[in-house]
Amino acid sequence: MDWCVAMPKVELHAHLNGSIRDTTLLELAKEKGNVVSVDMEHIILKHDRSLREVFKLFDLIHILTTDHETVTRITKEVVEDFAAENVVYLELRTTPKRNDAKGMSKKSYMQAVIEGLRAVKAVDIDFVPKLDAETLANCHSAGNLQSCLQRKKIHVRLLLSIDRRETTEAAMETVNLALQMKHLGVVGIDLSGNPTIGEWRTFLPALRFAKEQGLGVTLHCGEVPNPGEIYAMLDFLPGRIGHACFFEEDHWRKLKSYKIPVEVCLTSNIRTESISSLDVHHFADLYNSEHPLILCTDDPGVFSTSVSGEYILASTTFGLGQKEMFRLASNAVDFIFADNRVKEELKVTFASASRELD
Ligand code: 5GP
Repeated sequence: MDWCVAMPKVELHAHLNGSIRDTTLLELAKEKGNVVSVDMEHIILKHDRSLREVFKLFDLIHILTTDHETVTRITKEVVEDFAAENVVYLELRTTPKRNDAKGMSKKSYMQAVIEGLRAVKAVDIDFVPKLDAETLANCHSAGNLQSCLQRKKIHVRLLLSIDRRETTEAAMETVNLALQMKHLGVVGIDLSGNPTIGEWRTFLPALRFAKEQGLGVTLHCGEVPNPGEIYAMLDFLPGRIGHACFFEEDHWRKLKSYKIPVEVCLTSNIRTESISSLDVHHFADLYNSEHPLILCTDDPGVFSTSVSGEYILASTTFGLGQKEMFRLASNAVDFIFADNRVKEELKVTFASASRELD
């Protein structure tokens, strides 16, 4: 299944702090050993974590990572890891955090993320929208578009996450920050965090404002049984949703009639026991009904997976061959939140990879 690694892929649902390398996490845990209990070390080291343990682990990860230097380090590593497995477009999401003890504001947290993008060396990285036009124009004028596009390159765009523990005001602060950082590649807003906490109406004003201002909005939707919230989220007409594990018949009908793309995270759904087994996963129905879907990792570090791993899993579980998996990957370009120029460039990348496949 080397072809799953080799082919270009698009990742639209990856949380920064869920994508940390295990080795980095353990190193940080050892450095700051006084905050890690034996119990927590056990949770870091094990590979199958329940939903409850996952959120416990995130609280630990945040203690270990929420200083500027570490945020920069993990951003750089995470982007390089995705690029290494031929992800050509990454929409990386993260929750801007305030940490008074470290002199960190939501804004300085995001500046540390941007520093991490700037620090990427192992691969060409494109994360400032303005550069897209310039780079492409330079390639055209030099008459070497093909060679420009053949260099290994990853486009990275950012989504700012609102945590369900936050207030309306805090959510609005995140949206305003996203608007201020549009020129640095922020393309949208995500609603995430423990799905058993918080009320949809708390976040609605900020999410509505984000949409009005032209930001993409994606929602964690249907991770736990909450039929009313699922209806409200679908009626909001988000640009995409993630998970959709606890949908009832009417929810599926609505989702399909609205054609809202779904970020499908197979391993995450199984590990958190949101779906009992892959043979009953909604991937099959969505795929067979040609509903827009994107295969994603959610948290490759926390769930010990990778984008290629998710492609291999889908291919073997649902009997899809190389051509079908390639089509799934290239179709994802239609659902990215970056502008048309990036879409066009990605389409050229996929077209050229497709010729190699034939
Ligand atoms: P961060 O935003 O700190 O970079 O990434 C970790 C955060 O993403 C977690 O604290 C949580 O708020 C959110 N997150 C990660 N994985 C999941 C998931 O599977 N479901 C939900 N609802 N939130 C998640």
